[in-house]
Amino acid sequence: MIRISALAAAVKPSATLAAGAKARQLKAAGVKVFDFSLGEPDFPTPRHICEAAEKAARAGQTHYTPASGTAEVKAAICKWYKNFHGLDCAPENVIVSNGAKHSIHNALAATVGPGDEVLIPTPYWVSYSDLVRMTGATPVLLPTTLASGFKLTPEQLRDALTPQTRLLMLNSPCNPTGTVYTRAELEALVDVMRDTDASILSDEIYEQLIYCNAKPTCVATLRPWLKERTITISGASKSYAMTGWRMGWAIAPPAVVQAMDTIQSQQTGCPSSVSQAALVAALTGPQECVVEMRAEFAARREMTCDLLQLIPDVKLLVPDGAFYAFFDVSAYFGRNFGTTTVTDSVSFCNTLLEQAHVNLVPGVAFGAEGFVRMSFATSRDVIETGLGKFKSWLATAR
Ligand code: PMP
Ligand code: GLU
Repeated sequence: MIRISALAAAVKPSATLAAGAKARQLKAAGVKVFDFSLGEPDFPTPRHICEAAEKAARAGQTHYTPASGTAEVKAAICKWYKNFHGLDCAPENVIVSNGAKHSIHNALAATVGPGDEVLIPTPYWVSYSDLVRMTGATPVLLPTTLASGFKLTPEQLRDALTPQTRLLMLNSPCNPTGTVYTRAELEALVDVMRDTDASILSDEIYEQLIYCNAKPTCVATLRPWLKERTITISGASKSYAMTGWRMGWAIAPPAVVQAMDTIQSQQTGCPSSVSQAALVAALTGPQECVVEMRAEFAARREMTCDLLQLIPDVKLLVPDGAFYAFFDVSAYFGRNFGTTTVTDSVSFCNTLLEQAHVNLVPGVAFGAEGFVRMSFATSRDVIETGLGKFKSWLATAR
């Protein structure tokens, strides 16, 4: 028998991907599922991006590239950061990976290990704590509440810092809460970090999906010293509907990029050559597609929030960014749905899926028991009918 390693045994499967797989199984069995589990745009990748990939493949760009990405893709990323955020970066600050999840993994692997602490405000994106744990470092969870807009305060951050703190993970706009920190709020947080040995990993993958007046903020631009102390993560999955192309990147000081490059060179060789050509087209080509998709997400968000706010005992903070509604359903815990008593977010989601074929992700996977996450990256039709079913199912609670 082949033994399973301690590392594999210590890591949980991604709850979002698991919820998506569950819905896929039911659909394959002929059940009509209202699937709000995965955070994945339902739009096709814009045509000009696909065409660039096709052209690259036909032109023979089908070989290994440098482990950290081609010169073209790094130049495209640098230009995009200059235009979009006013951030000056050079190719030695850039590494492209197989998705932002891979970038986060390699950034953590390059910078933390046993004995180190990584601060993660909760609710957090499912993979953060397991990715930290995979390096041997310790995730330190900092709870935030719906009442405070799910925002970490400078006081909370100050109290959590220890000599072992190596990194603070920030994610604005946030998956799962949709919280967008203002520039001033981020400045107050980073200023707490200034005289410490800790750095910041800022996951900005939803930066182009903001619906309120707040401007996207690139944390690395907030203070001059942050350029040397920040690893910025982003990717093409969300803004350009490119989840399957697996294109993510990190912007970091050259020594960190070099360490990530070494890890990547041993681990995956390089990201896909054809996907890199597609990413160049996404970042340097026409941006109307982003504007159009954002407008549709905004309409879906409005519809989702309007419908959720009509449901008794559901507490929601209207999300300012990303494409998730994260809401408190704990008022239903202890109640019976048919013969099943719902006791927590997992039994809530399981019973809902079983009885009403509506698929949500349990809040406990994001470090927030009592809540559930709904992705509204799906059609308005599905949102309207699915939330109708959800409301009717909740009304059966006894
Ligand atoms: N960060 C956040 C906050 C996310 O929601 C996701 C979702 N996939 C990722 C990173 C990873 O994205 P990908 O690997 O598709 O680039
Ligand atoms: N980030 C998306 C989500 O939270 C995709 C799934 C994943 O990568 O975990 O649903």
